[in-house]
Amino acid sequence: MFRFIQAALVDFTDLLFPTLCLGCRCSLTANEKILCADCRIRLPETGQHREPYDQNLLNKFAGKVPIQFVASYLFFSRHNLVQKLIHQIKYKGQKEAAKEIARWYGHQLKTESQLANQIDVLIGVPLHKSRFQQRGYNQADSIAEGLSEALNVPMATDILARTRFRDSQTRKNRLDRWENVKTAFAVLRPEAVEGKNVMIVDDVLTTGATLEACSIELLRAGCKSVSVITLAATHR
Ligand SMILES: [Zn+2]
Repeated sequence: MFRFIQAALVDFTDLLFPTLCLGCRCSLTANEKILCADCRIRLPETGQHREPYDQNLLNKFAGKVPIQFVASYLFFSRHNLVQKLIHQIKYKGQKEAAKEIARWYGHQLKTESQLANQIDVLIGVPLHKSRFQQRGYNQADSIAEGLSEALNVPMATDILARTRFRDSQTRKNRLDRWENVKTAFAVLRPEAVEGKNVMIVDDVLTTGATLEACSIELLRAGCKSVSVITLAATHR
């Protein structure tokens, strides 16, 4: 009920005020979505799908789990526009923004790489049930939705589950994060991923601990390969 009232209020606010750019809060024109043209042009794209030999992001998983490839749209750093966007997507209910930005990336990948032909299914990193109820949506699934549309690859939300709920990962170092997530995921329907090329979707790739834990479970369940795609990634 509360969520319904909240959604109605958002619609009402949209009527009173024009939609604003999530980056600089200027009014968007009819042709602009989520970001104004100025902010969109300033997005720090990794462009990494155009450089097949750029192993920088893949190195985050080196020696831990065999990841086929890693694709990230934007560079994330503290106080940049991308951090602002991710914050809105994760904590401020901007799931449409997540979907739209994922569509932008999906179109790029579709026209400039062979990636879509190498994946059978997209799976968002799941939230624990209680976190999902608290937030009302899973931002990773919203990103997967946008990518799925643009790449024309199916997505699934009923294969992987987060079974343990622990504190937020935000302030933890790599080892703490790993201890926190290493047994947090379970594959609910192994038959759905057996022999498949799976792409795990998340908002930000930082240490890679969460994505590593998901990958291990999926490979254990019989996936042919696991790849990773995120809206943003830290340099290191
Ligand atoms: Zn702007």
